[in-house]
Amino acid sequence: MFSIYNIDHMEMLRRRNAVQPHAMKKFRNALFKKAQDWDDALVLLPEAARADFKAHVQFKCLELVERRDSVVDGASKLVFRTEDDHLIESVVLRPKTGRTSVCISSQVGCACRCGFCATGEMGFTRNLTADEILDQVLQANRLLRAEWRMIRNVVFMGMGEPLLNLEHLFKAIDFFCAVPFFHLSPSKITVSTVGIPEAMIQFSEKFPGVQLALSLHSARQEVRAKLMPMARKYPLDQQRAALERIAQHGKVMAEYLMLEKVNDGEEDLKALEDFLRGLPVHINIIPFNEYDGSSLRGTPRPERERFASRLKVAGFDTTLRYSLGADISAACGQLVKEKQTHNGVMHDL
Ligand code: SAH
Repeated sequence: MFSIYNIDHMEMLRRRNAVQPHAMKKFRNALFKKAQDWDDALVLLPEAARADFKAHVQFKCLELVERRDSVVDGASKLVFRTEDDHLIESVVLRPKTGRTSVCISSQVGCACRCGFCATGEMGFTRNLTADEILDQVLQANRLLRAEWRMIRNVVFMGMGEPLLNLEHLFKAIDFFCAVPFFHLSPSKITVSTVGIPEAMIQFSEKFPGVQLALSLHSARQEVRAKLMPMARKYPLDQQRAALERIAQHGKVMAEYLMLEKVNDGEEDLKALEDFLRGLPVHINIIPFNEYDGSSLRGTPRPERERFASRLKVAGFDTTLRYSLGADISAACGQLVKEKQTHNGVMHDL
């Protein structure tokens, strides 16, 4: 058995069954662009070819085991089980103003162990394959079909560090953007990283149109190193040098998670302004999603607003994220860890 994402195998089957290219195209569009069910797509193939495809193609590699819909703002968390019995999360976001997005995982667990992250507490198990990365989006689209929606943006802000899984990340992004398959514009994909300079540069050279987002969270080396162990290996001067290289391809994004009395003071603001000055940057201020077992507290909303306005006044393009959807996407990993959310309604599948 090979997956529907194995292009060579699908082509071999097409030839073996003498399926005309136009019929294959319809079949592919049904699978990837319309996210139709396997049986509905199969009938688009000549009858004689169907049994061979059915016997040799695996339609999905992840099993959806849980879905929770937020009653606050329409985000849905999806928990999938891999074939080797690991759980991973994706979050569908349906912003009122924007396009439907999905936040996806790139690894089972994570080795980075950031102090504010539920996934980090699980430790690292393994990289996701390109098939498993792709399947999160396709399965989300299958669910969204019932609502006449389709994923327009893919965000790698779920479990794991995507730039520590470059091989599968590259394959998956190639597939997302390929015209015969998902045909997503690279600008609709965001890859968020803890900050691995050489991988950031390599990535931006291969995919100059894809948005890279650096999880900065502090522009003070000692504070950042306390929050994010990886910051010791890759200090801020290396992050700045990498951002300058990446900025040659377009705007960079810096994420700033606001933690009370950790990175939200006057000194922190000044350091952030100094660090980002002169870069074409978009700053995303994100609220902390608190979870059991974490002693950290998020900066209250009024202070977050003040921090963001100060950045705006200083000339920085700054967005303040509010919604629960953004919160749960930012904090992907929590449902797998705790299997419980606030504001969540369970759906039996
Ligand atoms: N490893 C990558 C991508 C996964 S985390 C990275 O570090 O960027 C995606 C984003 O969610 C990151 O900006 C991360 O810092 C943030 N995040 C993690 N835990 C969070 C929490 N509890 N609340 C809010 N944001 C969180």
